[in-house]
Amino acid sequence: MKPFEIQSPDSVENAVSFLQQDNSLIKAMSGGTALMLMMKAGVYEPQSLIHLSNVSALKGISIDTQGVLHIGAMTTLSELEHSPLIQQHFSVISKTMKHLANVRVRNVACVGGALAHGDPHMDMPPLMTALGAQLQIKSKNGSRVLPIENFYEGYYTTKLSSDEIIASVSIPSIQNRHCLYLKCTTRVVDDWPTLGVAVNLGVQDQQIVSPRIILSAVVETPTRLLKVEDYLQGKPLTDQLIREASELASESVHPQDDARGSSSYKHQLIKVNVRRAIQKSILEKAQS
Ligand SMILES: Cc1cc2nc3c(=O)[nH]c(=O)nc-3n(C[C@H](O)[C@H](O)[C@H](O)COP(=O)(O)OP(=O)(O)OC[C@H]3O[C@@H](n4cnc5c(N)ncnc54)[C@H](O)[C@@H]3O)c2cc1C
Repeated sequence: MKPFEIQSPDSVENAVSFLQQDNSLIKAMSGGTALMLMMKAGVYEPQSLIHLSNVSALKGISIDTQGVLHIGAMTTLSELEHSPLIQQHFSVISKTMKHLANVRVRNVACVGGALAHGDPHMDMPPLMTALGAQLQIKSKNGSRVLPIENFYEGYYTTKLSSDEIIASVSIPSIQNRHCLYLKCTTRVVDDWPTLGVAVNLGVQDQQIVSPRIILSAVVETPTRLLKVEDYLQGKPLTDQLIREASELASESVHPQDDARGSSSYKHQLIKVNVRRAIQKSILEKAQS
């Protein structure tokens, strides 16, 4: 590994002062679980890493009076999994964490890294997209808010500039909504997903209201299935409707062949798992 510097700032202002526009050899580091793998493989050779672990302003989980959940970028995935606030009000997040990688990774990996990395085979990005999360992004020039839905551009590519960090993520209340993330793996249950399906539905008087359905892993970026959402909107919730929606979901994307399966296999996975995700989200809410 090539030598590199590590900076350990103790404030957001200090942290962003090290970053430079158009210089991706200087990067923020949170847990380092993804960065270290890339560095060991020689695909990333940084000049300097800005370790954010001493920036206390980037840590913490809270819910405001509007029911909006705020998570600091340096909150670990284990903290999300075990937070009583999240278990009570956003249980879909803590449930998702249980099968994301393994305990050792979750104990160090942080929300900022899990969202900024941009690997299509990840669980947090589709879930946060389904939940309508907003990212608070900071640089030395100020801050901006970006819906996560507009954040991913392609394979390992996001809208984050090299002089910006994710400071926190905010998620609107999901009270009375049916939310579920279904991870489909071809090996062990906590493997990287072959397919991720995230759903967030309202149901009123037996009719579907403002559905959000996101597919990931089979495509380059978390992809909202707008056609399927339009198809479901306002219709009575029946098994037949869910089947038709899953067929439409499978027709809406063009998965690539890769080591985890052929395109036709993934079409089949989508059909089966979109149906399961919608059905399970309804069932889980009824049982809770
Ligand atoms: C064995 C193993 C199994 C895994 N399995 C899964 C899995 O099943 N599902 C899954 O989703 N993931 C899986 N992962 C990936 C894991 O989720 C990521 O490695 C982790 O989330 C990255 O977080 P981190 O804090 O370690 O990021 P880092 O490695 O510190 O950073 C990753 C990237 O994000 C950037 N970054 C970090 N923090 C910020 C910030 N605050 N603002 C801006 N940019 C930032 C860094 O510059 C870097 O580009 C696995 C990883 C391993 C090692």
